Amino acid sequence: MRPIPTRARALAAAAAVSVVAGGGAVAMATSASAAAGCRVNYTVNQWNTGFTGNVTVTNLGDAISGGWNLTWTWPGNQTITQGWSASISQSGQNVTATNPSWAASLPTNGTANFGFNGSFSGTNTAPASFTLNGTVCTGSVPSGSPSSSPSSSPSSSPSSSPSTSPSNPTDPGTRVDNPYAGSKGYVNPEWKAKAESVAGGNRVSNTPTAVWIDRIAAINGTTGSSSNGSMGVRDHLDEALEQGAGYIQFVIYNLPGRDCAALASNGELKPDELPRYKTEYIDPIAAIQGDAKYRSLRIINIVEIDSLPNLVTNTSGQPGGTATCDTMKANGGYVQGIGYALQKLGALGNTYNYVDAAHHGWIGWDSNFGPTADIMLEAARASGNVKNVHGFITNTANYSALREPFVQPTTTVNGQSVRQSKWIDWNMYTDELTFAQAFRNRLVSIGFDSGIGMLIDTSRNGWGGSARPTAASTSTDVNTFVNESRIDRRIHAGNWCNQSGAGLGERPTANPASGIDAYVWVKPPGESDGSSKLIPNNEGKGFDQMCDPTYTGNARNGNSMSGALPDAPISGAWFPAQFQQLMQNAYPPLS
Ligand code: BGC
Repeated sequence: MRPIPTRARALAAAAAVSVVAGGGAVAMATSASAAAGCRVNYTVNQWNTGFTGNVTVTNLGDAISGGWNLTWTWPGNQTITQGWSASISQSGQNVTATNPSWAASLPTNGTANFGFNGSFSGTNTAPASFTLNGTVCTGSVPSGSPSSSPSSSPSSSPSSSPSTSPSNPTDPGTRVDNPYAGSKGYVNPEWKAKAESVAGGNRVSNTPTAVWIDRIAAINGTTGSSSNGSMGVRDHLDEALEQGAGYIQFVIYNLPGRDCAALASNGELKPDELPRYKTEYIDPIAAIQGDAKYRSLRIINIVEIDSLPNLVTNTSGQPGGTATCDTMKANGGYVQGIGYALQKLGALGNTYNYVDAAHHGWIGWDSNFGPTADIMLEAARASGNVKNVHGFITNTANYSALREPFVQPTTTVNGQSVRQSKWIDWNMYTDELTFAQAFRNRLVSIGFDSGIGMLIDTSRNGWGGSARPTAASTSTDVNTFVNESRIDRRIHAGNWCNQSGAGLGERPTANPASGIDAYVWVKPPGESDGSSKLIPNNEGKGFDQMCDPTYTGNARNGNSMSGALPDAPISGAWFPAQFQQLMQNAYPPLS
């Protein structure tokens, strides 16, 4: 990933009330004669005239392999307008939800989860019962449920329902302004184990890092993959509940024609596979995240790294432009895919979408800045509501310094602006914090909600160690001054792969600066950006010369050396030597 061309809040559903159906899971009842074959949890989030429904059905009977359907009858005039993770049809008041083609089986004790949007007027009473493949579901009924049917026998106590114990202080169904504030982050045990495999790694191994869902198989967890672990989305969410975490971070990263301007993180979906992205990737993730069991967690989704900026700077006619970026711009796959992801994931009451917005060394020039903001708005509008975007993230998996105390765009040397140095190359920004705050203002000015917050990935932008300048240079040559004064020690700001000399940056912190929701570690430190040479693999990972330490560069990095560390494995795979160096050069330093 990381093609870098140099020049080249408020609530999502305004009145969304969590809720419902009796304050949690309402399991339905009845028919004394039916075998206890299934249990249904049904919850809704509703506003004046609309609602989002979420259904989890558990098969308590024999394994089902040839497909399932769940039926119910609305007590009122509810009308389903759109569904996901099941094919849903409605005739009069009768609804049938049929398994998606990719999930026809339902083992004993297995669950299926799907959701839908609907409209109603009057009251939105829950259905009185659900039927799975002809068997009325007779699962337990939490006490106090207003809609428990008369025939339901002694209700199980609320505490037996996994979905009734929020671990965040606020009502979990209510979206908060800053999901990081006052909330404990989820520590990914798979990353933690890798970090602890390197001497001294235990100093940082309890840091929350994001879970990358970088392919369809990662949803359920993979085996034999060098860049993923065996834990799937549900496993991570369950573990987050175990940890008593308040928030968990996922990276949604599998667009069709992914990473169109680089090769190291090309994905599995072809440029024309938007339908698969929707049904095989986003829908199942939304279904799992929407499980009522997880409603106490703040689920943060970092949406599609690098994609939209690539459509601005890396189409043909620009230095390094590619045919794949042309295709993705023309076919709308990125904009529509992101719109779909934002809409599906944004429909859940406890999820927070942060869209990737590159970094200052990519879109800090006026010619890129405005158009990138505009295409973000286009994607947000494609989701049906710009409020599906809770905020943006910059510097994901990149190395741009948070602050450049000695090199600001206004700094002059011997009467010359530092902006004319080779390093800055007329960029309007020199560091990530200033850029992120300015980009936020721009986004709000064009139509995003004024409550949006920014995140900055500080996992690898520390640049500490002995090479870190402690004062401004005294040189009167503008290039020498900038090179001796800058915190970012890269050879060129367009370099992005396994950068030599980098260190861990600020540890995750909520509300660190105005407009910034948090500093976060999204790229798990020590996971490679790409292999130093071609390594055949069956994970769709290509070889990008920007990861080869002997590569002398191209137009996008000012024909500079790549600055990459040698002997790196494929992107996402564990790279202990890099992790070692990141710890060594951490800033703030590790004690
Ligand atoms: C890779 C992913 C990996 C992620 C986090 C990306 O560059 O393509 O496979 O999960 O980095 O390390």
